[in-house]
Amino acid sequence: MIFDIIIIGGGPIGLNCALEAKKNDLSYLIIEKGTIVNSLYNYPLYMTFFSSSDKLEIAEIPFISTAPKPGRREALEYYQTIARQRNLNINLYEEVLKITKNEIFLVETSKNNYHAKNVIIATGFYDIPNLMNVKGENLPKVLHYYKEPYPFAKQKVAVIGSSNSAVDAALETYRKGAEVTMIIRHNEFSKSVKYWVKPDIENRIKEKSIAAHFNSEVVEITENSIIFKDENGKIQEIENDFVLAMTGYLPNFKFLQNSGIELQGDCLNPFYNQETMETNVPNLYLAGVVCGGKDTHLWFIENSRIHAEMIVNNIVSKN
Ligand SMILES: Cc1cc2nc3c(=O)[nH]c(=O)nc-3n(C[C@H](O)[C@H](O)[C@H](O)COP(=O)(O)OP(=O)(O)OC[C@H]3O[C@@H](n4cnc5c(N)ncnc54)[C@H](O)[C@@H]3O)c2cc1C
Repeated sequence: MIFDIIIIGGGPIGLNCALEAKKNDLSYLIIEKGTIVNSLYNYPLYMTFFSSSDKLEIAEIPFISTAPKPGRREALEYYQTIARQRNLNINLYEEVLKITKNEIFLVETSKNNYHAKNVIIATGFYDIPNLMNVKGENLPKVLHYYKEPYPFAKQKVAVIGSSNSAVDAALETYRKGAEVTMIIRHNEFSKSVKYWVKPDIENRIKEKSIAAHFNSEVVEITENSIIFKDENGKIQEIENDFVLAMTGYLPNFKFLQNSGIELQGDCLNPFYNQETMETNVPNLYLAGVVCGGKDTHLWFIENSRIHAEMIVNNIVSKN
């Protein structure tokens, strides 16, 4: 069988592409290496989205949430229910390893080979942590994914980073009895920190419940300590049990490059036509947050939901 479209990645945007393909009577298959909306499944258990639920809706299917900003569990229910009830054609726990283009695409996965006229890459950015590249980063006490606060009770925890993930992890672990020190490269928190969370972290720092070192950079991590350069250029070493390295994540650039997509500039922005989302490889499209390259704050669900319609319109117009 030759599919009209193979969609790589069953995140919110991959699902949206499938719904759009279905609406236009195109044959499609989503190939997802984990469960449905795997990135969301791996989010911190008690996280709250910065978007209100209506901004996370796909295909105009209402997302009813009990709070203005939904949490991980509600979002999992929403997206997985859509996949189930709309009977989306999705293969799970199957990783796409290689895409080759001849006249049509050959998509090679961990389980099978498939053929398609068009391919959409909607692989997101949550699989590859942005490493600090310091000695000791590979110690088991250094975590790049934070799940929940309870393991850190009465522990000396260093939280690295300045955006939502770091702030949420610092506040949650502090409230479960951890002794928290934040180490932040910049001179302030990221502008994207949720507006209702920002005063909380600022006040905890002001009252010294949470220690924070701005303009500071981690130098080394040892079994019992963390060493960093502070804002005066002085090297400090503090006792430490766990490091939550909330330093962001990156798209799989190797996969994009091996698929023939040009990466441009310092942010390694993948090339695509801004009206159609088609890359420099004809009939190969990008959708969702993968489009931002290293700038992972550029795209989110809210503003990339539109990609599905742009892509499918382009495919239909070519047909
Ligand atoms: C903690 C956190 C909170 C966020 N909160 C918000 C928010 O409030 N509002 C908002 O709009 N955005 C938010 N985002 C940003 C972004 O919208 C989400 O990351 C969203 O999941 C992106 O959707 P996506 O479909 O583009 O990518 P993802 O949801 O990341 O989906 C990509 C999928 O591709 C799969 N995949 C990857 N490689 C392969 C492969 N080779 N083969 C097969 N499958 C593969 C992955 O397993 C994954 O399921 C948040 C992000 C994070 C990390």
